[in-house]
Amino acid sequence: MAVKSFKYVIVGGGVSAGYAAREFAKQGVKPGELAIISKEAVAPYERPALSKAYLFPESPARLPGFHVCVGSGGERLLPEWYKEKGIELILSTEIVKADLAAKTLISAAGETFNYQILIIATGSSVIRLTDFGVQGADAKNIYYLREVDDADKLVEAIKAKKNGKVVIVGGGYIGLELSAVMKINNLDVSMVYPEPWCMPRLFTADIAAFYEGFYKNKGIQIIKGTVAVGFTADSNGEVKEVKLKDGRVLEADIVVVGVGGRPLTTLFKGQVEEEKGGIKTDSFFKTSVPNVYAVGDVATFPLKLYKELRRVEHVDHARKSAEQAAKAIKASEEGKTIEEYDYLPFFYSRSFDLLWQFYGDNVGDTVIFGDNNPESPKPKFGSYWIKDGKVLGAFLEGGTPEENKAIAKVARVQPPVENLDVLSKEGLSFACKI
Ligand SMILES: Cc1cc2nc3c(=O)[nH]c(=O)nc-3n(C[C@H](O)[C@H](O)[C@H](O)COP(=O)(O)OP(=O)(O)OC[C@H]3O[C@@H](n4cnc5c(N)ncnc54)[C@H](O)[C@@H]3O)c2cc1C
Repeated sequence: MAVKSFKYVIVGGGVSAGYAAREFAKQGVKPGELAIISKEAVAPYERPALSKAYLFPESPARLPGFHVCVGSGGERLLPEWYKEKGIELILSTEIVKADLAAKTLISAAGETFNYQILIIATGSSVIRLTDFGVQGADAKNIYYLREVDDADKLVEAIKAKKNGKVVIVGGGYIGLELSAVMKINNLDVSMVYPEPWCMPRLFTADIAAFYEGFYKNKGIQIIKGTVAVGFTADSNGEVKEVKLKDGRVLEADIVVVGVGGRPLTTLFKGQVEEEKGGIKTDSFFKTSVPNVYAVGDVATFPLKLYKELRRVEHVDHARKSAEQAAKAIKASEEGKTIEEYDYLPFFYSRSFDLLWQFYGDNVGDTVIFGDNNPESPKPKFGSYWIKDGKVLGAFLEGGTPEENKAIAKVARVQPPVENLDVLSKEGLSFACKI
């Protein structure tokens, strides 16, 4: 079997890999020096599109339309771009073994790849109900969404089950985005989740009440406080019913499960230091092993602003951490240093004609402001998180680009507040004057 050697290898071909490649090219990587090895069959693309415009019934997003770096307003890197730069895109190739001491990777087909510097960018994999032995969870038409292949299967199912019934298992952002897009496809949608409200890791009860009300008005049935404990299938093996823990049974032609992800670190277990479920790095995304970096979803990095190690699954961080690592690698070769990574957590989601953004840390007390009536023709509202007399986090639904910039600034600057009632009354104008 062939052995290939590169100066730099990125394992994983998702968001981080694409942004790292662009940064390497900016920094002057030479032809033949850099390879991206990806399990997927396509060049790096903006993954968030998969649960949004990719599933639209009309004018859906399709590759090559959303290759990186269009998601952040940059140039679209088509496969030809990599060719022109002499960056080798090794697609449809899964790495099944990594030996960090020997500096080699081995693919499922048995090829060996040697590297001098490795960047781990394997992202996350979805948690499957079959992992917990949920009865009937291997029935046909039960879907998960992580990669473009998964999205293609969903597109086929939507076509095959016109006007059918969809049950979405999970009330996180994937569940919310998928419920919306399924409804837009004229399917009959029910969402099921165990928590008292949707997106509990970020949303307060007040924020969630708006989205739940909005979704109900769109005709989406929301079932809270229970979980799917089993599925029944018809004689073709296709899912027919979802059994809930509270005894209810929901009819289903399609089930989509969005119950979270896990960082893909198994290849490196026992070879590199881990922390908080991810691969521990410094501010330059260097791991505990010399010449090995980790970026994106898999990295547990020092979040300077909060003086603690964190792992985040945000596309914005995937992009920025990848750029930071590529810059740090090139700088260290020239004996230079670069500034430490100073990330402001940023997360967003879109569904129907809604768009929210969140910046900072969601800890402490909260206040809500603005018009959060789900019946409003143009709802616009937000929330601040306040701890130790300072605003640490800010959320805004329906903001303009300038207003979103203003809440980002609040989360970065952490202005003091004395009176929460006054803050709530001031609302967005508090952010706009910072
Ligand atoms: C459907 C969906 C919607 C999302 N929407 C949003 C959003 O609205 N806002 C937001 O902030 N974030 C969103 N995210 C999260 C965001 O996309 C991720 O945080 C980001 O993609 C992480 O980038 P990454 O490069 O670390 O991993 P990924 O982009 O997942 O890339 C990892 C790549 O590594 C490959 N790989 C893994 N293991 C191997 C192996 N052994 N060998 C070879 N290749 C391998 C994978 O196939 C994949 O190509 C969304 C995620 C999904 C799945």
